[in-house]
Amino acid sequence: MLTVKAYAAPSATEALVPTTLTRRDVGPHDVLIDIKFAGICHSDIHTVRGDWGPQSFPLTPGHEIAGIVVEIGSAVTRHAVGDRVGVGCMVNSCGECTHCQAGEEQYCLAGNTGTYGAVDRDGTITQGGYATHVVVTESFVVTIPDGLALDVAAPLLCAGITTYSPLRHWGAGPGKKVAIVGMGGLGHMGVKLAAAMGADVTVLSQTLSKRDDGLKFGAHRYYATSDPETFTELAGSFDLIVSTISAEVDINAYLRLLAVNGTLVLVGAPPEALPVQAFSLIPARRSFAGSTIGGIRETQEMLDFCAEHGLGAEIEVISAEQINDAYERVLASDVRYRFVIDTATL
Ligand code: NAP
Ligand code: ZN
Repeated sequence: MLTVKAYAAPSATEALVPTTLTRRDVGPHDVLIDIKFAGICHSDIHTVRGDWGPQSFPLTPGHEIAGIVVEIGSAVTRHAVGDRVGVGCMVNSCGECTHCQAGEEQYCLAGNTGTYGAVDRDGTITQGGYATHVVVTESFVVTIPDGLALDVAAPLLCAGITTYSPLRHWGAGPGKKVAIVGMGGLGHMGVKLAAAMGADVTVLSQTLSKRDDGLKFGAHRYYATSDPETFTELAGSFDLIVSTISAEVDINAYLRLLAVNGTLVLVGAPPEALPVQAFSLIPARRSFAGSTIGGIRETQEMLDFCAEHGLGAEIEVISAEQINDAYERVLASDVRYRFVIDTATL
């Protein structure tokens, strides 16, 4: 077992504090990763604060991991010592169900094993990426292409794949009108990816304060949802809306922005219910959907797409002692556009 430095939440109501973790010995199919950068996802905050249910504490969050392989197990074939690699939101799945076989491990019928806060195959609780090292089964480790720096690549492991997967699934591309709701960590990647796919992209943000950035990321239009005119002007406009909103909203207002046959996909996961009125859907054969992260193969495809198109996350690199302040800034929508922890400061 390896003892490593980390940050952990002692409980749902306390600030994260420095700690140490033990990582399992490197098994035949495992790789040991020296973590260089770990992104802060809003899901980390929802999870440690108990928004999505009780957790086992202390808990080290972090599922946007970028680093270097420093040791491999005897049977490892996909990765070698020195490789630049990433780990996202899952570290295992059953491998046998139809979804795992199809490369959509995120929809594993037995439930995928989350990178933190999940029961691992040895019965321990997984601990995430706000740490100096992690041991992961090689099949859940992806390659970060040479063209992507590790710091801007880290957020792609969650924010990137979570927006890439629904954009691909619902056919974002030339001739498709796509709206991205909320321009935070997920949202800003959604804008960059949808624009690179060739879609006509609109951002729906609470205010116009990030408009210049949105247009720079590739959006064609940018509207404030605080202005009621927005909902009148854009009614019936979009083929696809991807909502990254992390809090309670009137989802009916957004559903009515869909064109006939359009789909609104939730990736943002507010803890509150979002009641839907039948007549937000029925008159235009609209669909209301959800999507979670993406499979390992698709995560690699997304990283390769980002390298090919020169896309990375917009980041603010922070030291470990700034994690708790960063959480407050994420909650206040004061993030431009992802905090990334430099793990050398742990
Ligand atoms: P984030 O950086 O905080 O971005 C969320 C954005 O939502 C904010 O920047 C803000 O955008 C908007 N927003 C926040 N509060 C709002 C409110 N009260 N009303 C309207 N808009 C509001 O968070 P993130 O890391 O991108 O994550 C977003 C959500 O996705 C979280 O719920 C997270 O847990 C979830 N998530 C889901 C998956 C999945 O697999 N489905 C994966 C990762 C994350 P503007 O300032 O532009 O308005
Ligand atoms: Zn995440």
